[in-house]
Amino acid sequence: MLITQVKKKEELLPLAKGKTFLIACFGCKEVHFAEKEYEILKSEIKNAGLNISGEIVLDYLCNEDYTNKRFELHKKEIDSAETIIIFACGVGVQTFSGLLPAKIVLSGCDTFYLPGFSGFTPSSHACDQCGECMLGYTVGICPVTACSKGLLNGQCGGAKNGKCEVSKNKECGWERIFKRMTAIKENDETLKNMIRIRDYKKSQ
Ligand code: SF4
Ligand code: SF4
Repeated sequence: MLITQVKKKEELLPLAKGKTFLIACFGCKEVHFAEKEYEILKSEIKNAGLNISGEIVLDYLCNEDYTNKRFELHKKEIDSAETIIIFACGVGVQTFSGLLPAKIVLSGCDTFYLPGFSGFTPSSHACDQCGECMLGYTVGICPVTACSKGLLNGQCGGAKNGKCEVSKNKECGWERIFKRMTAIKENDETLKNMIRIRDYKKSQ
């Protein structure tokens, strides 16, 4: 099982730019979503002056087919926003951010592991439930699972032709992150703010 904890406004606000659209997944049985905390945070970010242009609340964001259909329904509103904040587990955030290659996508939650049944996720994205979600700094691509070494401080230098030195069939996760940063014209200041000592206790 997983539990999601809504991030603090102090972490999210400096990363959000311009018109912001919110997406919240109230989840499945296997993921506990902090609905009350989400409502509190929403008021806090409105009071702080962030321009919220719209919101969708849905379930099963990790289901790619369903998420695609919901995306098509709200495409116009989402296209007009500069930043998208997604409140969901790490798999849900990556599933939706995969549909938005030109947007700044922030993870509104940290995802923690809880012992028990983990549920079936019909998604090609992976989350290791590390408890300190980095997706908002790494343009929606998880460095813990997309990089074979789970590096948080950039590329190891071993990639060849875009492939990881550990698994030759895998694209280098950090090359994917830098390519997407270039596509959305994001500079690496955000990444520099991310670098800190990781608290591994949170992922246990
Ligand atoms: S950084 Fe990756 S492993 Fe950690 S919570 Fe986010 S998606 Fe999951
Ligand atoms: S080659 Fe890329 S994905 Fe592989 S370990 Fe190095 S940085 Fe990580």
